[in-house]
Amino acid sequence: MRILIVEDEVTLNKTLAEGLKEFGYQSDEAESLKDALYYLDIRNYDLILADWMLPDGNGLELVSQVKQKTPKTIVIVLSARDDKDSEIEALRAGADDYIRKPFDFDVLIARIEARLRFGGSRIIEIEELIINPEEEKITYKDKEIELKGKPFEVLSHLARHKDQIVSKDQLLDAIWEEPELVTPNVIEVAINQIRQKLDKPLGIQTIETVRRRGYRFCYPKGA
Ligand code: CA
Repeated sequence: MRILIVEDEVTLNKTLAEGLKEFGYQSDEAESLKDALYYLDIRNYDLILADWMLPDGNGLELVSQVKQKTPKTIVIVLSARDDKDSEIEALRAGADDYIRKPFDFDVLIARIEARLRFGGSRIIEIEELIINPEEEKITYKDKEIELKGKPFEVLSHLARHKDQIVSKDQLLDAIWEEPELVTPNVIEVAINQIRQKLDKPLGIQTIETVRRRGYRFCYPKGA
């Protein structure tokens, strides 16, 4: 899960980034509208935390631009405006949620998780295959499978987006810290590991390659 933080109060921005990291989210930090638009150009985000009043513009402009380009991206507006008209204005501009400053960090995380329902830490259980993201553990018919790190994350991400074709770029954005700094080849390496360590020994197929488009979680095949 990748989150873009758009907040010009530097300390708050850093606190948010560090806090989100502890909860297992990747984030990028923008301190102005211009920076935010730059990031939106190069990466895909699951969620954006947008401050309303930015030094070079209005956070609500960002909301409508994001919603036009990628309607599925969740946008939560953070603002010191505590009147109901402002809240209504933000929601009408397309925001999915509105959080008044100052806010409690635990409440913010709970609201983020509520918005990202398919969220990171849920156990994925498909027939006899159980993927536990929190413990980085996979079991099949009660036997533990040795698959960790990036291959584990790739498998969990695909399983969470079951039946969808996920492109290499989407996988890089969701899982790698600095997607621009690695070649898409790392995805092939991870997929290969999944096939060698999981599929092959168990005689199952979990991921299929969809030519030129990406990968799809396909376990159990034919179901
Ligand atoms: Ca501000």
